[in-house]
Amino acid sequence: TTSKITVRAQPFSRFKCHCTICQEIYNKPYAEFVVVNAKNVELNKSDQLLFAKYRRPPALTRGICQNCQSPLVGFLRLAPFLKLAFIPIDRFEDPGALPAAQGHIFYHSRSEEIDDNLPKFSGYWKSELAVSQSVLKGLIQH
Ligand SMILES: [Zn+2]
Repeated sequence: TTSKITVRAQPFSRFKCHCTICQEIYNKPYAEFVVVNAKNVELNKSDQLLFAKYRRPPALTRGICQNCQSPLVGFLRLAPFLKLAFIPIDRFEDPGALPAAQGHIFYHSRSEEIDDNLPKFSGYWKSELAVSQSVLKGLIQH
């Protein structure tokens, strides 16, 4: 069965990530995920997550579900007081209720050209900055 995750707050932002790690572990040209405050995320006790830290950027701690062998959640500490959770949108019961995608990140390592109107961020720092800015905006508004 596919593990589901419980999120008790509206996500800050939503991005499509073209980094090589996402391509590898999702086996897709990019992964689409939302960013939420980790304190609002509840993991089911039945989920057996194996956490792996990748040295390559983005330096997320990624939890791979041992039941379905696919990534369930990634964690990143942005500041001493703020830990973020990155959750693939297909882990939500109702992905239609999620915010609209704000752009493509790590676009420099894309395996496929994307023809849409969303902003495309290339390079490590530009990609990180796009996510951070959107999260900060969300923090101020919530
Ligand atoms: Zn990625």
